[in-house]
Amino acid sequence: MDGHCDVLWRMWEDPTKDFYDEHGNLDVTYPFIVQSEMKLQTFAIFVPPSVRKGQRLMAAMEQINLFYNEIIKEGKRMIPFRSMEETDPSTSDQCVALLALEGAEAIEGNISLLRIFYRLGVRQVGLTWNFANEVADGIMEERGGGLTQFGRRFLKEMKHLGMIVDVSHLSEAAFWDIIESVDLPIVASHSNCRAVCSHRRNLTDEQIQALIQRKGLIGINFVPYFVSEQNPTITGILRHLDHIASLGGEDSLFFGSDFDGVVRKIPGLANMGELNHFKDKLLRRYPEEVVRKWGFENGYRFYSEHLKGNH
Ligand SMILES: [Zn+2]
Repeated sequence: MDGHCDVLWRMWEDPTKDFYDEHGNLDVTYPFIVQSEMKLQTFAIFVPPSVRKGQRLMAAMEQINLFYNEIIKEGKRMIPFRSMEETDPSTSDQCVALLALEGAEAIEGNISLLRIFYRLGVRQVGLTWNFANEVADGIMEERGGGLTQFGRRFLKEMKHLGMIVDVSHLSEAAFWDIIESVDLPIVASHSNCRAVCSHRRNLTDEQIQALIQRKGLIGINFVPYFVSEQNPTITGILRHLDHIASLGGEDSLFFGSDFDGVVRKIPGLANMGELNHFKDKLLRRYPEEVVRKWGFENGYRFYSEHLKGNH
């Protein structure tokens, strides 16, 4: 299971990229999904800051269109994951595809658009990318503000719809606002540990402990500069797994590759085609039951619980 990739954004930026072509110039492709027996892949809708206000909704719509036309295809193994009643990833031999919004700026400050995103199949929302928007501040926004009034209304509507909130990229203040005052399932879909690699995008031990306590999920990220400040390797990724496990998070871990999100790569883990090799490395170091938890079961437990009863 992979909790985060940026294939839709890549395809939106460059229409020559083809998810179904093994030489499609993407880190995540259909041949790789089949080869690595992926059961759940999250697809982020990401509107970069270069897109001006007023055009962000359109950019998000175009990515949703790519999802339903270029990823989900009749006769292929990709099916949208909107509810457990509709699709159970543990029983089908298909790969379920979860549509997630990364950055609430795409709703252009209009809560009714959030309801429409839901109707289009979006079940998870990362409130911000790195900077501030109408809902909250991102982690790179110097002032480090928390949730806005609008953000609180936004989250209330997410709760009403039955959505999942993603706290990766969020400012620390907004993270704690959510922990303290919002009753929603929480995932940090692609975030590592600051104690292991001191980058602001990584989670502090206090944040990790709060996520564990809330039965949230933490997706370990493969981006070199979130893995290690000096020499990012696969062994460096294992240090993040070990650290979270040492804080009691064995049942909260999964992976959020960030494939297709960045150009720099960890040697031996450049794309989904190398995932089986990564799995072998995990199996050499951890018991099979633990690898199964991190690779599928923890995420499955979380999503099956929180996407139950959705329509
Ligand atoms: Zn991201």
